[in-house]
Amino acid sequence: MLGRVMPLQFRPIEGLQTGLIGYLLADLAEKAAVVIDPPRGQTELILALSEERGVELKYVLRTHVHAADADTCEELCSRTSACLLAGDELEMAGMPAARLRRAGHGATIPFGAETIDVIGSPGHTHGSLSFLWQDRLFCGDLFDLDCCAPGGGEAEPGRLFDSLVRRVFVLPEETLVFPAHPIEARRVATLEELKMRLAPMMQHGRDTFITGMLARRTTSAAAL
Ligand SMILES: [Zn+2]
Repeated sequence: MLGRVMPLQFRPIEGLQTGLIGYLLADLAEKAAVVIDPPRGQTELILALSEERGVELKYVLRTHVHAADADTCEELCSRTSACLLAGDELEMAGMPAARLRRAGHGATIPFGAETIDVIGSPGHTHGSLSFLWQDRLFCGDLFDLDCCAPGGGEAEPGRLFDSLVRRVFVLPEETLVFPAHPIEARRVATLEELKMRLAPMMQHGRDTFITGMLARRTTSAAAL
C-alpha cells in the first residue's frame, strides 16, 4: 500500500572490503533502532539510514570481537547517543565507561517497543553472544567452524559444542539465522538447515566434536 509506513525495519549492512554483514533493526513507530556488528567503514551509511528513517540509534551490539581486530565502534557511538553493548568478558579498551553496557545470557535489550534477548554463546570466542529478535537469530561466527580453526587460539571447541546444543539448537527450527558473513555464499539459513549441516561433526558427541575441531585447526595451521 503506497504511503504506508512499515512499523519495523530490518536492513542488512554489508562491509565493502571485509564481506562482513551487520544488521540494522528499527522500530519506526517508536523512532528507535539498534545495529548489530556494524562493519568497519559503514558508519556513514548507518548514520544516513538512521537519519532518513528518523530513528535514534540506541545500541551498537557486538556478537564478538577478535583480539586482532578490537574495533570498538567508537566513532559510531560518539556520533550518536548509542551505547556499545558487549559480553561481560569482552575487552573494550578505550571505550568510555558511560557509553559501555555489559550483557550476559538471559539479558534483554529494549529499543522502542521491541526487545532483543541475549543468548550467551561462547566458543567462537571466549565471550561470544547471540541476539534473538522475533524469529531471527544474529549469532556472529558461531556456525563458521572453518573460521574458528585457523590460528584458532580464541576458539574453544567444547564451549562451542555446549553453546550450540544447550542454547541455540533449543530454539524453534524455523528460526532464521543471520551470520556475520556468508556461510557457503548464503546470507541466511534456517536453524534446521544449519543443524543438518553440522550433524556430521556433532552426532558422535562432544569429545569427538572437540577432536575434530582440533584436527581442523592443526590441518589449517599446517597449510599456512
Ligand atoms: Zn569471528
